[in-house]
Amino acid sequence: MGDYRKLWSDLGMDLEKHDKLCAVLPELYSSVYLTQENRPEGMNYFNFVVAEVHGLRIQELDEHKKDGGKVVGTFCVFVPDEVILAAKAISVGLCAGSQFWVEDGEKVLPRNLCPLIKAFMGAKVGGTCPYFNSCDMVIGETTCDGKKKAWEILEEYVPVHVMDLPQMKKSKDYKMWEDEIKIVIEKIEELTGNKVTVESLKEGIRIANAKRRALKRLYNFRKLKPSPISGLDALLISQIAFYDNPLRFTEMLKALCDELDERAKNLVPDNSKRLMITGTPMAVPNWKLHSIIEGLDAQIVVEETCTGTRYFENEVSEEGDTIEDLIKNLADRYLKINCACFTPNHGRIEDIIKYAKEYSVDGVIDANLSFCHTYAIEHRDVETGLKEKNIPVLQIETDYSSEDSGQIKTRVEALLEMI
Ligand code: SF4
Ligand code: SF4
Repeated sequence: MGDYRKLWSDLGMDLEKHDKLCAVLPELYSSVYLTQENRPEGMNYFNFVVAEVHGLRIQELDEHKKDGGKVVGTFCVFVPDEVILAAKAISVGLCAGSQFWVEDGEKVLPRNLCPLIKAFMGAKVGGTCPYFNSCDMVIGETTCDGKKKAWEILEEYVPVHVMDLPQMKKSKDYKMWEDEIKIVIEKIEELTGNKVTVESLKEGIRIANAKRRALKRLYNFRKLKPSPISGLDALLISQIAFYDNPLRFTEMLKALCDELDERAKNLVPDNSKRLMITGTPMAVPNWKLHSIIEGLDAQIVVEETCTGTRYFENEVSEEGDTIEDLIKNLADRYLKINCACFTPNHGRIEDIIKYAKEYSVDGVIDANLSFCHTYAIEHRDVETGLKEKNIPVLQIETDYSSEDSGQIKTRVEALLEMI
């Protein structure tokens, strides 16, 4: 990575603390990613993006801002990127996946809270995330209680707009979500000074759909036996999708998929077990579970998570002649996401069973971040649904620390022996 200290300093970051983060990340990445054998050549682009995660992309955001553009941070796959793109702003996913940020988060939040919330808050409070410090506004949502209340504190550090997400899927909830999308359009227009038009919104929809399509194509390769790409690499690609330039990301992912097309012609069957991960999102650089599992005789072939299928399934229709038509299309697509914050949430169990079949999985790991009550409570339904189909399931509740890694490994080994 080049020298970006002036850029970081101009962003108001704590350089000394940030140096500590920069010192651990490359080592972690090398040990988890670069030790994998026979990776596709196309992964070199994604290696490069990680190597430059706090460098080149931040410089791009800076240039965009110097040209009068705005940067908008998001935390949830319900926030419609299409609208941000339509107003010529850049959207960055801010969920944080490292234990490094948790300590600073705990200075303003209770300790017994989901690590994802503590980490993103710590990244801002401690001044160690250049993405956060590049944001002109962040868009939160009323999903879980932890996030909902965290916005009130975050607002002291950065302008926050909160979208009021319905928690049921009745017809009145669709109407409510359409209204919320209308409000966020006004907010973003105000921030950027750019009007969201039918044409610009259609363009935003096209860009987001193309990204979804490329991710779906990647996932389709994982249905092959064996998958020509590791679960670790697929997870990394999904994580990068949240902050890379969407046009470049889509092109690079398509090129990787072309390479996988070739690889798929020469697959050598193996006996490794095929697993699905379902549960809470795995924000970058949370590679903990994937690295433990793929260090054993197993391959993760699908993630029913927000850093997996929930991010890219279902496209937004481009049909319609008015902004209202397109807003309705957005609401229809987004309310197909099955998050445990909704009640009831039978659609998620149906998705898990459908994916288990499509990806020929031998077992499922229901992985939840500690203190995430909605997903923890929903485990019972996940287990019941899978047991009815004779699919073994293991529940793992964990955080970002490595303290329980040995215990998780033992439990996964026991699952693999059983299947
Ligand atoms: S798990 Fe739910 S709240 Fe979290 S990012 Fe996904 S949709 Fe949003
Ligand atoms: S993992 Fe659960 S508790 Fe954490 S932010 Fe997502 S929904 Fe909230």
